[in-house]
Amino acid sequence: MSERVNVVDVTPRDGLQNEKEIVSTRDKLLLIEKLALAGIREIQATSFVHPRWVPQMADAEAVAVGIQRFSGIRFSALVPNLKGYERAIASGIRFLEFVIAVSDTFNHKNLNRSTAESLELLTQVTKLAQQDDVEIRVGFSTAFHCPFEGEISARAVVDLLRATRERSPWRIAICDTNGMAYPDQVTEVLVLAKSELKMPVTELALHFHDTYGRGLANTLAGLEGGVREFDSTTAGLGGCPYCPGASGNLATEDLVAFLDGMGYETGIDMEKLLDAAEFANGFTSRPYQGHLLLAKRAGACGVKQPKESQLA
Ligand SMILES: [Zn+2]
Repeated sequence: MSERVNVVDVTPRDGLQNEKEIVSTRDKLLLIEKLALAGIREIQATSFVHPRWVPQMADAEAVAVGIQRFSGIRFSALVPNLKGYERAIASGIRFLEFVIAVSDTFNHKNLNRSTAESLELLTQVTKLAQQDDVEIRVGFSTAFHCPFEGEISARAVVDLLRATRERSPWRIAICDTNGMAYPDQVTEVLVLAKSELKMPVTELALHFHDTYGRGLANTLAGLEGGVREFDSTTAGLGGCPYCPGASGNLATEDLVAFLDGMGYETGIDMEKLLDAAEFANGFTSRPYQGHLLLAKRAGACGVKQPKESQLA
């Protein structure tokens, strides 16, 4: 039997949060329905952040109500602070993503507090989550490179892993927020985490952006290091508010095609996933950021289909 890889689609949150054009709650739920039909079993649905900072997520409560009709899917929501935690719990969300940046400067700019203060907040949120019987995944943003501090060392990531582990039992997603990681950095973090912290690599997830086209190379390094959970966005939507021009996350359809071809089991139907990608691509005025949709349905990306005879 082939090995299973968990694909977490984060389009409704990471993919849309930087899109200027507001996507309606109805369209977000239609995308979620298409992802569900394609066989995606874990979706990051929204973020309980203040609407002043991220207007695209102002409908977090409405999205949380809308997703209740889907069964068999694990929906998560990002919570940046205690207020967000309370809103998420009140909305019935049972799986939360708590973010901390490895880069202290990025943490200040993004969350208005130091990384050390975020760790203290994690202690509080962990206590609440255990009382409320909800699960958390901790996301480490800027784990390989920071738009302000430059390259981030594997040492810094592993130190934060240790500090997080001391405070909480949760799974941790290591995120390449601006898409500048190299595969050797991914390998170095995984090797250090295993050797120093004796951490089962199955407790780690990887989250790649594809700004420099290294998303799949980094995925391969993660797979070889034993990671079996990867985040991505349909149609490669997304970006980074601090990296103008940055393309989006690694595209879910590219990731799934890659995993399928490498013999991993994802449980995802490619044709139905391409339907979701085609729909999601309509949310942005930017050109399509992935590959698979272009290779399989060029017309959906605004490219004229070549005639059979032109195909070499
Ligand atoms: Zn991201």
